Amino acid sequence: MVRPDFQTPPGTRDITEPDAGRVRRLVEVFADEAVTAGFGQIVTPMFEDVGVFVRLGEASDVVSKELYSFKDKGGREIALRPEFTASVCRAFAQHRPLTPWKTWYVGSGFRYDKPQKGRYRQFEQVGAEVVGSHDPDIDTELIALAWRFFRRIGLADFTLVVNSLGDAGDRPRYQAALTEYLEANRSRLSEQAQKTMVVNPLRVLDSKRAGDAAVAAEAPVMSDHLSPEATAAFDRVLAGLDTLGIDYRVEPRLVRGLDYYTRTTFEFVSHSLDAAQNALGGGGRYDGLVEALGGPPEPGVGFALGVDRTLLACDEEGVFTPADDTVAVWVVCTTDDLAGLEAVEELRSSGISAGRAYDGRSMKAQMKAANRSGAEIAVIIGSQEVEAGTVAVRTLRDGDRSGDQQQQVDRRDLVKKVRSLLP
Ligand code: AMP
Repeated sequence: MVRPDFQTPPGTRDITEPDAGRVRRLVEVFADEAVTAGFGQIVTPMFEDVGVFVRLGEASDVVSKELYSFKDKGGREIALRPEFTASVCRAFAQHRPLTPWKTWYVGSGFRYDKPQKGRYRQFEQVGAEVVGSHDPDIDTELIALAWRFFRRIGLADFTLVVNSLGDAGDRPRYQAALTEYLEANRSRLSEQAQKTMVVNPLRVLDSKRAGDAAVAAEAPVMSDHLSPEATAAFDRVLAGLDTLGIDYRVEPRLVRGLDYYTRTTFEFVSHSLDAAQNALGGGGRYDGLVEALGGPPEPGVGFALGVDRTLLACDEEGVFTPADDTVAVWVVCTTDDLAGLEAVEELRSSGISAGRAYDGRSMKAQMKAANRSGAEIAVIIGSQEVEAGTVAVRTLRDGDRSGDQQQQVDRRDLVKKVRSLLP
């Protein structure tokens, strides 16, 4: 095949059927769970003032290296969103809705990352956020929402890991202890980690490099430096998860990719994906983010799940398989009047999916197309039928049901007859 002039840019894909249909159904399931839990949808712009994302913390790769930023024609510094939480907090600061504000979303995020399976430059997320309450039960309810969603699509081979990163006041104490430890082990750290450690030592714990991970495995843990309030909040979340029967593992070194998290953090880790891309999603509290974006000092908590990766995990587990999206009826029309067009429209208007062939194909070619389409029923219209005011109806897949007989039916009874033959 001749290579076309244009292809999708690196790290992007055309998502076609059956995956596109799976994405749609997955979003429907998520939306249903979110609405059931009292969340309203928000649709924010795909791009924002770059400052909205820079406030996420310049020590994170997402902001420092992976941001798609550019100057627009009006000279504004713009960035494509790398995630949704910052936009949700910006929206909260802008509109000041009543609290607690519970909102869910779906859409694409953009990160100039190294493309590989499960890591794309444009990816799809669904997520939910609650702004305006410190109540740790909300953290638990959010985790439960994600849990119900995963369970409903059939995923089972994953683990929920949780941690508390403490309050803003706990951080300096922990960071001091961590920095001291990292300094003592500097020679074992990668060059990148040695740099990161100066800007944000916590991020070193998130390094996937083998040498760094070995150092991280013995680093001091946040749980030894939590304030009594943060400890009580975390205990309440864990008690909530126990009450709801949600399995989890406390992972004292779990820090997430972005800098804004406080208190509860969590991640859903799939066991069926490669280690570098095994996070299906995650989230946590970000009690200072709304204020950092110029809003009131309202706390927030939320999570985002990666749709692409969730579907990869579904493939591995053999669940959430593509739905059968074939049409129910195939209209075969061999006359050159508008009878075929009219028949498909009538069927579709009655809620019956219908397809047909085009370009004046022969009867034989059209019957072949009908069989290939996977439709249950063929409706055949020739000049005889048009003259007699009838159509011929024939079952395609299951000959037994009607004895594979072609039946002549009054044209006016088309929909009624087709309905009676469909399962
Ligand atoms: P994060 O905000 O990085 O925690 O992202 C939440 C989830 O979104 C991750 O766990 C992934 O499932 C998904 N995700 C993030 N970045 C990418 C990417 N570059 N490609 C595909 N999925 C991604």
